[in-house]
Amino acid sequence: MPARRPISETIQYQVRQRANLLCEYCHASEQWQYVTFTIEHIIPLAKNGADTLDNLALACFHCNRKKSDRMTAIDPQSDAEVPLFNPRQDNWSNHFIWSADGLFIIGLTPVGRTTVTVLALNRERVINIRAADKAVGRHPPPGDPIQLEN
Ligand SMILES: [Zn+2]
Repeated sequence: MPARRPISETIQYQVRQRANLLCEYCHASEQWQYVTFTIEHIIPLAKNGADTLDNLALACFHCNRKKSDRMTAIDPQSDAEVPLFNPRQDNWSNHFIWSADGLFIIGLTPVGRTTVTVLALNRERVINIRAADKAVGRHPPPGDPIQLEN
């Protein structure tokens, strides 16, 4: 494979600002992490995805690794192949909502629930981090939808 030019500092900065420093999948904030998040290619490089803003998203290491070079996956409920959440085309709040306690991401649509499953958005370690962040008032991110208490 030919050597690739790294994504420019300017584009990386623009991706981070646009995402408000949130992983565009699990909504973890880079602000509270001690590792920087990755710049993810929505259409993967392996499928000739571009290094342009409309194909890039801020993603934490885990979401990026879980998504890998996939763009679709099998909906666990219907067994149909559906697109994964696309941060450049889809609105997070249309596909996901926080559980009332703020610890779990619930998929509202086939795209949402498939993405929750495939990217393991409710893995145990991240739930522990959400609980700790919630205890100090920095989770869920401002403006995110949250289910009402019963
Ligand atoms: Zn993430």
